Amino acid sequence: MKSYKCILFDLDHTLWDYESNSEEALRELFDRYQLQQAGITSFNYFFEVFGRINTGLWDLYDRGLIDQSVIRTERFHKVFSAAGLDEYKLSLQFSGDYLSLLPRKKNLLPGAQDLLQYLRPRYPMGVVTNGFDEIQGTKLSSGGISHFFSTIVTSQRAGSKKPSVGIFMFALGELGFDPAEAIMIGDNLQTDIAGARAAGIDQVYFNPRQAAHDEKITLEIRTLNELRAVL
Ligand SMILES: [Mg+2]
Repeated sequence: MKSYKCILFDLDHTLWDYESNSEEALRELFDRYQLQQAGITSFNYFFEVFGRINTGLWDLYDRGLIDQSVIRTERFHKVFSAAGLDEYKLSLQFSGDYLSLLPRKKNLLPGAQDLLQYLRPRYPMGVVTNGFDEIQGTKLSSGGISHFFSTIVTSQRAGSKKPSVGIFMFALGELGFDPAEAIMIGDNLQTDIAGARAAGIDQVYFNPRQAAHDEKITLEIRTLNELRAVL
C-alpha cells in the first residue's frame, strides 16, 4: 500500500462495538421494563426482532429515505408490535431510555484500543460518523478512545452525512490534508467505502463476517489487527 498522512475512522461497528453495546443496553431495559411479564416470550426473541427491524430502518436511513426522528419514534413501536406488545407510549419511553443508555456502554471491537494506540504517534486521526455530537461523543469517551483523535466529525456538525463527499472534505479540512493523503476505515460498503471513494480517498473495508460483494476496494480486512502490518 502507498503511504498515507492521515487516517479517518468510522465509529459504529468499526471501533465501538455497537452489537455488544446494544445487546447489553437492551437486556438491561428488557428487565427494567419487565417485558417478559408484559407478554414478550423471551429476551432472545425480542433481540432477534430488534435486529431485523433495526437493520431495516438504518438501511432506509442510509439511503436517505427516512430521517433519524423516525428511528427514534417508531423503532421500538415496531419492535414491540412485532413481538406481540402494542404499547406506543411505553415504546417511546423505552426508546428514550435506550438512546441515553446505549452510548454509555464501553465495549470496543477486538483490537481497536491496541490499533489506535499503535497509530496515534504515527498519524493524525479523525472520526467520521453519521450521528449526533452528543451521542457519538459519549460513545468515544465511554470507550476511552476520544484522546486518540484530532477531530471528531459527526454528520450533525458537518451538515452532511456519509456517503456524501461533503462530510469527508469537512474532516480533511479539519486535519489539513488532501484526499490523496488520507485513508478511510469503515464497515459499511455504501456510507464508508463508496463515500470515501467518491471523495478521492483510499478505503479499508472492515469486513469481519466476510460478506460477499463485488466492490473494488483499496484494502479489505477481517480483523483490525491486520492494519498494523500495512500502516
Ligand atoms: Mg459503521
